[in-house]
Amino acid sequence: MPSVAQQLIHWHEHHGRHHLPWQKSRDPYTIWLSEIMLQQTQVTTVIPYYQRFLQEFPTIRNLAQAPLDSVLALWSGLGYYSRARNLHQAARILVQDYQGQFPDTREVIQQLPGIGRSTAAAIAVFAFRKREAILDGNVKRIFARYFGISGYPGNAVIQNQLWQKAEELLPLNNFAGEIETYTQALMDLGAIVCTRRNPLCGLCPLKRDCIAHAENTIAQLPTPRTRKPLPQKEVIFLILMQQQKVLLQKRPPSGIWGALWCLPEIETGSDVFSFCQRQWGLAIESSRTLPILDHQFTHFKLRIHPQVLHVITDASAETDQFIWISPIDALDQAIPAPVRTLLTQNVLSDVSHG
Ligand code: SF4
Repeated sequence: MPSVAQQLIHWHEHHGRHHLPWQKSRDPYTIWLSEIMLQQTQVTTVIPYYQRFLQEFPTIRNLAQAPLDSVLALWSGLGYYSRARNLHQAARILVQDYQGQFPDTREVIQQLPGIGRSTAAAIAVFAFRKREAILDGNVKRIFARYFGISGYPGNAVIQNQLWQKAEELLPLNNFAGEIETYTQALMDLGAIVCTRRNPLCGLCPLKRDCIAHAENTIAQLPTPRTRKPLPQKEVIFLILMQQQKVLLQKRPPSGIWGALWCLPEIETGSDVFSFCQRQWGLAIESSRTLPILDHQFTHFKLRIHPQVLHVITDASAETDQFIWISPIDALDQAIPAPVRTLLTQNVLSDVSHG
């Protein structure tokens, strides 16, 4: 009976993905970039971002020398901007401490900002053919089902169990780069066969010995996290409009939406008119309240009360922290998802009809 690794390698030959733009590359920089972009985002969304990013920053040195704002702007629309901040910071470390070269062991790669054990292992496998195990969200799902492991995979005990399985299943030797094919096969199986909902077990090379399949527990595995209700914070977002431009404010470099351009935010219950007068010397001609917008972070929910305010004072003065910008140009900046939604749904149509 062939090993799990052999079955996956064989399956991959005819059923895996072979034409993704980052495949066949041995350049750790491009592999790293693809791994980071793919962490929270679908392949089809990632491809154009990946290509644009490499056109703009073809090497680690180019990335390290770029201002953070340009990196974040290229990430605009991809979300989870901490990934871009970490990429930029790690590129600077690679240039300063490693002469712009990527280290070739998983342990050292893992010390760079934003790179966890599984991502470090994927880079070590694809760039340096190291025999390392990956365990991203897709692979956790496959192993939880295949081995019938219940319990939330983010829990340390369960996670250790899954890492142990990941290590045990590695191909025993690495002839003809088997480790790369095996790793890619696992990623592909998770993406196209053993999917979160409605897995295609009929097409799965592991079906014969899969415990979840045999015991009909696929829908329960992997065990979801038991969620406590999240605390909620409420704020007002000010959509200040003047001559068809909107005011954006730069967030502090760390914390929620660090270094992104955002709509100015104030506490609910504040007097919006006197706040604008005090803060920017702006007189408001009219205001309009928009429907509430809810946004969820990992640790809390943000309930946003957006308010459109038309400014009559001529207030074009800008600083590093504030810009007046046309809403269409704002969409090319690094802006958080709810700001993008508000500008797209409410402001752009007003401006085009105004
Ligand atoms: S048989 Fe089904 S549940 Fe089991 S690993 Fe394959 S796709 Fe996943």
